[in-house]
Amino acid sequence: MARYKTLDDMFKAVSLRGMRILLRADLNVPIQDGVVTDTTRIERVAPTLVELAARGARVIVLSHFGRPKGAPEAEYSLEPVARAMEPFVGQKVAFASDCIGEAVNQTIKALAPGQIIVLENTRFHAGEENNDPVFAEALATLGNVYVNDAFSCAHRAHASTEGITHFLPSYAGRAMEAELAALDKALGNPARPVMAIVGGAKVSTKISLLGNLVKRVEVLVIGGGMANTFMAAQGKKVGKSLCETSFFDTARHIMANARAANCEIVLPIDVAIASEFKAGAASRFVSIDDVPDDMMILDVGPKTLDDLSARFARAKTVLWNGPLGAFEIPPFDFGTSGAARRVAELTKAGTIISVAGGGDTVSALNKAGVADEFTYVSAAGGAFLEWMEGVELPGVAALETN
Ligand code: AMP
Repeated sequence: MARYKTLDDMFKAVSLRGMRILLRADLNVPIQDGVVTDTTRIERVAPTLVELAARGARVIVLSHFGRPKGAPEAEYSLEPVARAMEPFVGQKVAFASDCIGEAVNQTIKALAPGQIIVLENTRFHAGEENNDPVFAEALATLGNVYVNDAFSCAHRAHASTEGITHFLPSYAGRAMEAELAALDKALGNPARPVMAIVGGAKVSTKISLLGNLVKRVEVLVIGGGMANTFMAAQGKKVGKSLCETSFFDTARHIMANARAANCEIVLPIDVAIASEFKAGAASRFVSIDDVPDDMMILDVGPKTLDDLSARFARAKTVLWNGPLGAFEIPPFDFGTSGAARRVAELTKAGTIISVAGGGDTVSALNKAGVADEFTYVSAAGGAFLEWMEGVELPGVAALETN
């Protein structure tokens, strides 16, 4: 695993009392009518904030929120998020109405050691997304050191994730450290054999991901709508299922690369079919060779689930992105939930390491009630996918080289 400095390295290097620590968090949380509806990201960063505050540092939290266009917009203010953080960090959280400038600097200097302040949305300045060095330096002057605890933002080279590291000693926070360690265990330096499950709607959005995985895992399970494209590319009839006919060559190419790399590609044996994609639609299981022309595939079937279960039992590491079926609408959550429960059981039994991530995957595992039972579930969407694609994440690379 690449080397980056952690908080433990920081504690050895400097005394934290009164120190101004600029901490990049991901406070881009869902809000409805001023209320944070999912606090997962706050909960993940809270231990780092509490640990630094307990050592007497002044903790200055930087984050983007939503997609303002480089200027202030009231609906994207981080102030309600600062309020929502208070129960998780066990103290009142101060707020500054900008993220650069002399007034903010004075507010920060007036903080008592151990206090936490959230600065206003970094995207209220165009320099954030442009990674403008002048803006990055303006952020950097507010602190003595920089900590990045926002893995989910590490795929963007922005001023608060990358630019700032050119001006300050930089460290990975606890959440970043945990995420990088989990990802390393899953794909960087995993216990083998590694089995990857990739599901979801389309092949077209996951070509690079599949291309990278065939080189790095022993077994690649393809499920969800994208499996239809692979099966159809091999001449199977998929009726009126979601299927990307213009990606048949891509699918065949991926299969050929898998063969060359000794990676076994696993496709469904049986599937759940219905005449329409609707809750409670009449459905049944059929062999993959018996899909009628007027029906669509919406999930995998019990034989496929048995096959996957047997494979999980032989694996040492399971890496998962994307649902095996249209899990939002019952009964088409059968395959995803069943497989997730099996992975959770084996994780608990200690026979496998399980790492999952990507937006829909997290909600699918929550739906199955097992998200807490995996070894690690990443809350990062885009960053997790880019990491699975083998792309170097600028926010992580900046910590390594610093
Ligand atoms: P993705 O965002 O690419 O991970 O795709 C997730 C979406 O794929 C979910 O909304 C699922 O409902 C959908 N999906 C999974 N399997 C199927 C299928 N067989 N047919 C249509 N949609 C599916």
